[in-house]
Amino acid sequence: MCGDCCRASPISLLPHEQLVIIRLAKKLGVKVDFTRGYTVYDRLNNVNIVLTYHMQLTEKGVCPFLRDDNKCKVHRLYKPLICRSFPYTIKNVSYFFDPITRTAFHRSEYTISGACKFIREHAGSLEFYLGNEAFVRKFFEDEVRAGYLMEKYRSMYMAALTYLWKMNYVDLASKEHKGAVYVNAYAFIRKFIPYFAIAPS
Ligand code: SF4
Repeated sequence: MCGDCCRASPISLLPHEQLVIIRLAKKLGVKVDFTRGYTVYDRLNNVNIVLTYHMQLTEKGVCPFLRDDNKCKVHRLYKPLICRSFPYTIKNVSYFFDPITRTAFHRSEYTISGACKFIREHAGSLEFYLGNEAFVRKFFEDEVRAGYLMEKYRSMYMAALTYLWKMNYVDLASKEHKGAVYVNAYAFIRKFIPYFAIAPS
């Protein structure tokens, strides 16, 4: 493991992953800090629903789970999808909340990250191939699979929020509301749909 992705930037987590990471951090005695990523306001319940979290790097500029020997402390327990997909990385995620049809959906764009040492070192010779989707899918098979899984889960969140919106359990407004409390989307959705479950795999 080169550890490039463990130093690149804060680690982006889906809501259920944040809960898993909190539990693992507690078990392993690791201090973790998060900032909130995209948040949608629910007018009906007066809460901001958090759809992504960013686990912050330590003062040394590394992931709190990175060991001194460059190994990941949670590799065999639960490695976040964003780590598994690296260097096939999210370039941009946009969330949409359509008040007319009461539909929540998202769109994600991926790229091959230049934060990866291998990519940097072979940038010239790989340039042509990295623009070829079929090549990227074949060459980064496991990483692309992790990216697809992440998007599948993100779609599940959007489908669950759409269902709650259509059933009048929530009323979504795309901008967060400063005075309202923040809730983890996974925990929030499960209050209404207990069978909404994503097993960390
Ligand atoms: S969770 Fe593991 S693989 Fe992911 S950034 Fe942290 S140390 Fe690296």
